[in-house]
Amino acid sequence: MAGDTDYDAVVIGGGGAGLAAAVSAAERGASVILFESEGELGGSTQLSAGLFTAAATSVQKELGVEDTVDRFFQHYMDLNQWLLKPGLVRRFCELAGPTLEWMLDLGLEVPAQVSGNAHQPGLCRAGVEDVWRGHVPKDQGYGLVQVLDRARRAHGIDAVLHTRVERLLVAEPQGSGPARVTGVVADGVELTAGAVVVASGGLAQDPALVERWFPDALRAGESLFVVAAEGSRGDHLAYGEQVRAAVAGDGWGLMLPTAEFVRHHHWQAGFPPPSRVHVNGQGRRFMDEDANYAVSGGLIEAQGGPAWMVFDEAARTALPDGYADWDADRVLELVGTGQVTRADDLPGLAAAVGVPADHLVAAVERWNAQLPHGSDVDFQRDRTLAAKGVTTPLAPIAVPPFYATCVLPTELVCTHAGLEIDTSAAVLDVAARPIPGLYAAGEAGGGVLGNRYVGGGNAVANALTMGRLAGQSAAAALGH
Ligand SMILES: Cc1cc2nc3c(=O)[nH]c(=O)nc-3n(C[C@H](O)[C@H](O)[C@H](O)COP(=O)(O)OP(=O)(O)OC[C@H]3O[C@@H](n4cnc5c(N)ncnc54)[C@H](O)[C@@H]3O)c2cc1C
Repeated sequence: MAGDTDYDAVVIGGGGAGLAAAVSAAERGASVILFESEGELGGSTQLSAGLFTAAATSVQKELGVEDTVDRFFQHYMDLNQWLLKPGLVRRFCELAGPTLEWMLDLGLEVPAQVSGNAHQPGLCRAGVEDVWRGHVPKDQGYGLVQVLDRARRAHGIDAVLHTRVERLLVAEPQGSGPARVTGVVADGVELTAGAVVVASGGLAQDPALVERWFPDALRAGESLFVVAAEGSRGDHLAYGEQVRAAVAGDGWGLMLPTAEFVRHHHWQAGFPPPSRVHVNGQGRRFMDEDANYAVSGGLIEAQGGPAWMVFDEAARTALPDGYADWDADRVLELVGTGQVTRADDLPGLAAAVGVPADHLVAAVERWNAQLPHGSDVDFQRDRTLAAKGVTTPLAPIAVPPFYATCVLPTELVCTHAGLEIDTSAAVLDVAARPIPGLYAAGEAGGGVLGNRYVGGGNAVANALTMGRLAGQSAAAALGH
């Protein structure tokens, strides 16, 4: 046990960031306890595909992919228009690769093979980067959590479930200095510690906090649905208020575009027909329909009005069985509710959704002249399909009746407003001073996740990399 405190470190939250922090602090000899508000560990990390973005890894090397931290950093900053602090992002880019190696050493499996999507273990094209950086682990997010939990148990770290940490214990500041964190209160019990790591995830499950910190999500209106874990209640922000912590990432988060009727993550929802065209309110095609979500939400929102996904009867009837939303019969049911529009020909469909008929007809004709022959001169979707391992050309959109449904960013995955951290994952106060005894990581730690999601794999890499760093820093500050 740690000196005159109950523990060296208390970790709040048992998702990816919290488990990584707990294990890395214990590796350095710190005594650690972890609190988890829900009945099991894992949080959003466990629900995720586990896709992990990192540069210069052994997996990339084995596949002959040349990559460097410099290149990763440049891409990360450029995609985010340099709105993030370069020092913190550089640290993240330096540590993401070593953190993946650490996970591999702990038993994670990421085979050195090409992966066509986030469900096949291996290396995939994870975003709009020029080098493949998407590491897909065996058993996805569940696999990550299992590996970390095994290490937690091996270190004898207690994980207390069903216990939502209520608040921090705080020592009054000396003069005008920052407050000092001395422990936590959980289940009404005070527990003292040399360091507290806040790893309680994001705020997606609290509607009032979403309205304050990620109001763009509300543009989805009644189509908005949240897939983040139940425990994503934004408790980090209340802790931050106790110690006048700064917040980074205000207004940012990840929304995935879907058809407006979809209510589940794609594992359950299923996938839209491959043979489809997205057109804007002018009836013009405006994007690669498979564009990565690093950019696809922005592309749709930039149209300034409704965007429509258009497909035909052959595409509907070819939908595979077993999915909750993208199912042939369900699409017909939705015609009845008005969430899907149907017409016998394309001019009729255009009239029904209010776009110029000649534009829509021209968009579909041009698509038919290209994609079924394997090329997409305008939007380069053939390259995206090739990276996904799709080798058969897509069918034309030609069999009546035709269908249209609104497509927009509706699926709230994660939020980026977290307690601002420095390059050691220490939380900064509003005067940019590290708050003694307080660290944060994952969605609860702000400054790494930006306005543009670098991925897939950005948020899991952030959680594990910064969580591991927070645990190391906390232990080092206590002399371990
Ligand atoms: C369906 C889905 C798929 C995704 N796929 C990917 C992907 O493939 N790649 C990627 O990079 N990102 C992905 N993401 C996002 C990514 O999973 C998360 O951003 C990341 O895992 C968050 O990790 P975390 O440790 O910060 O939070 P979490 O993993 O959510 O862990 C936080 C934990 O803290 C607990 N907690 C909260 N408040 C308290 C409290 N007061 N006291 C105690 N415990 C508390 C929560 O219950 C939770 O278990 C996905 C997210 C979802 C929902």
